[in-house]
Amino acid sequence: MGSSQQSSIEEELDSLCITLQSILPRLLTASLNLNSQPLFKVAQTSDYEHLRRLSTPGPPSDINQVIDDAFAIAEFRARMSHPRAMAFIPSAVSPYAWLGDVLASAFNTFAGSRLQGSGSGIVEKTMIDWLAGKVGLPGTAGGVFVSGGSMGNLLAMALARDHRLPRGQQATGVVYVSEQTHHSVSKGLRIIGFHTSQIRHIPSDDNFRLDPIKLSEAIRADRDAGLLPFVVVASCGTTNTGAIDPLTEIAAVCGREGMWLHVDGAYGASASLSTTHSHLTAGLRHADSISWDAHKWLFQTYNCGILLVRDRKTLLKSFASQGDYLRDALGDDDVPNFWDCGLELTRGDRATRLWFTLRVIGEKRFGDMIDHGFFLAEAAEEELGKLSNWEIVSPASMAILAFRFVPRDKTDAQWNELNVAISKRLVAENIAGILTTKLRGVVVLRMCAFNPSLGVDEIRGVVQQMDRVAKQVYLEHSSA
Ligand SMILES: *Cc1c(COP(=O)(O)O)cnc(C)c1O
Repeated sequence: MGSSQQSSIEEELDSLCITLQSILPRLLTASLNLNSQPLFKVAQTSDYEHLRRLSTPGPPSDINQVIDDAFAIAEFRARMSHPRAMAFIPSAVSPYAWLGDVLASAFNTFAGSRLQGSGSGIVEKTMIDWLAGKVGLPGTAGGVFVSGGSMGNLLAMALARDHRLPRGQQATGVVYVSEQTHHSVSKGLRIIGFHTSQIRHIPSDDNFRLDPIKLSEAIRADRDAGLLPFVVVASCGTTNTGAIDPLTEIAAVCGREGMWLHVDGAYGASASLSTTHSHLTAGLRHADSISWDAHKWLFQTYNCGILLVRDRKTLLKSFASQGDYLRDALGDDDVPNFWDCGLELTRGDRATRLWFTLRVIGEKRFGDMIDHGFFLAEAAEEELGKLSNWEIVSPASMAILAFRFVPRDKTDAQWNELNVAISKRLVAENIAGILTTKLRGVVVLRMCAFNPSLGVDEIRGVVQQMDRVAKQVYLEHSSA
């Protein structure tokens, strides 16, 4: 009986092996050959029933059929790696990232402790040290891989509270963000028990950067009112415009006031790895903590974020906890128990994919891939500058460009409508994934140009197509 069970396991493995060999090339094609695929494909109510049927468990099915079903389900997704997908910051993924992820997933290393995952633990620690070195943090620095920027920001707010607010004073603490700060910061603060009234949204300057003078004034006013300012959240690359707050000036304010400086570098911290633009992020060295997403401008698959801290002991002080049954699993400074550095106990290996990508393509090409985003946005801005009726609302910064179509004979309200219509048409015709956002109350189009496989000439072509679409939409609106 034992041997027949053995042979059936072997048969099953043999057949899995064949399946795996066929699925990898198919996946590579499906995930890389995107140019002619739809940018967005959203399931409509008429698709739901079919999708629900595919989703429902039941008797065993042929594995190849289930794989086909998985492809059918994945049809309904935005192709975030599409060369002309410019609607969101998370965009192109490197094939090496997902291959690395496949490896990590197959080994399924438990990355919570040194006992269970010392190999991947060293990789995680080495990646953290390498990234911390790139942004200029000192040798005391540390960090932890997390699900993403939202989690990084939440943990950073807990660190700032634990290390800068006296015990029992949470209700009098005040947090300073800019009006351009990512909403995940407020969300994290609410989750850890702060009230919205404890968050000050400091106005930004003409370039959408947090104004350090207004910051100082707000801190002064709060101190006079008996409150306890304890953390400033600065951005290195805002979501709307790619603005970098004046980190050095803000750090000086924090130093003077004894406040924690958290920098949200979810995507912008990646510029520190670029070949020619790393000087832009020099101010990151002043941060007490930095959130950074590898699943944005480091071309990794999702759920790959990093929280870096100036002093790794702060992580342990805030997040280490004890379960009696974990007493035999001890970490050390070289391989910490990462379950003591954040929220998660059971956690997967998120670092291997980044290590794998960097090892395969090397630091130089990686840096060039980041640089390319700068060049793309600058080329698009230059091309727009040649056309009439277009206004650059926020110039190319960190691969983001915001602009709008403003024909003279229309009103503000009509401009807003026109730009929404242009975006819809660009998507409907699969020309480019360019959506709208609002800046100072007006609707603008926004390009996030991060994809290393989009050529500089191609992005110029997208701008020309956009101009054609804008004229068409304008005529339709004028004759309606
Ligand atoms: C994307 C982003 C976040 C949120 O990160 P997630 O990984 O999506 O949770 C926070 N801040 C900034 C500036 C971002 O660009």
